Amino acid sequence: MKPEAPQTDLIGLLPEEAEAALRAHFGRRGQPAFRVKQVLRWIYEREAFGFHEMTDLPLAERTALDEAFAFTAPEPSKISRSVDGTAKHLWRLTDGELIESVLIPTQTRLTLCISSQAGCAMACTFCATGWAGYRRQLTAGEIVSQFRGARRWARENGYEDITNIVFMGMGEPLMNPKAVFPTLRILNQGYGMGARRITVSTVGVVPGIQRMAEMPEQFRLAVSLHAPNHELRQKLIPLEKKYDLDELLDALRRFDAAGGKRITFEYVMIDGVTDLPELADELAEVIREFNAFVNLIPFNPIPGTEWRPSKRQRLNYFVERLESRGISAFVRESRGSDIAAACGQLRAEVTQGRKPVQMGSI
Ligand code: SF4
Repeated sequence: MKPEAPQTDLIGLLPEEAEAALRAHFGRRGQPAFRVKQVLRWIYEREAFGFHEMTDLPLAERTALDEAFAFTAPEPSKISRSVDGTAKHLWRLTDGELIESVLIPTQTRLTLCISSQAGCAMACTFCATGWAGYRRQLTAGEIVSQFRGARRWARENGYEDITNIVFMGMGEPLMNPKAVFPTLRILNQGYGMGARRITVSTVGVVPGIQRMAEMPEQFRLAVSLHAPNHELRQKLIPLEKKYDLDELLDALRRFDAAGGKRITFEYVMIDGVTDLPELADELAEVIREFNAFVNLIPFNPIPGTEWRPSKRQRLNYFVERLESRGISAFVRESRGSDIAAACGQLRAEVTQGRKPVQMGSI
């Protein structure tokens, strides 16, 4: 029988913490030191989903590990695979919460988009997750296990290894610093994901950006700007009222000054709302000082809104206008639309019936 006290989750520990915990555990049991390495190998290289899979350990040791530690394992509730290869996992957590991760293959990369919270409290008006509201923080183990589960699934289903990770799924990662900052280091140190291949996407949580600036590793930052001025931005992103554009830009200057750290700006293209030519000029002015580029994201229509994605001609003109002002811009083509792969969509489908928040009018 398992003890009542919460167990330490091995998957949510930094590698050196996991090693120390296992050393103490096996030391107490009079087991040889190599048992520690055996378990670490199963966690970081062989992707065991539980102690029962660690077949080179004696059964008594697997049972003892199971009693001593938690081991968060991903449990897929639904897996959808698009004709373009995009694959979405809907994971069911132990308390029944549902979260999503998406694998996005291109010719040279396999990017995994992961969630940092169940739901999201930021209530951005253009986002399906924002509509559904906040449920709870994810633990480091729950975030890491999305990566572990998706990596194993990718290997078993003919994909290459995951090359990049983006925190662009459900949730605002910098509002969950207790889990997200350790997770960055676990992915980097434990699973060998290069810091420059991990991007944290934020709507502008200034203290979190500051903390990222202070990290020695060069994790990347994507900033969901979505509007080049305070008035429009506060209608799209309620957080703008707490950390306004000026404060956000100051934090980004500090991030930039930390050196070697790359910023990308994200900008949602909503027909007649964010795609006006004069906004392109204003955007170019705002971000000119950063050696950054802009990802233009065609708005993904969500039920209950009248907003529509920008027309192709308007999108192209916006790109041209930015480029004529020296700003590199790319249109992020929609992937996996046949499987509702945009942020929050699959979960929204599955949890249909929850009341959406009221849309702001622009
Ligand atoms: S865009 Fe990101 S921060 Fe905003 S509501 Fe959606 S998940 Fe949350």
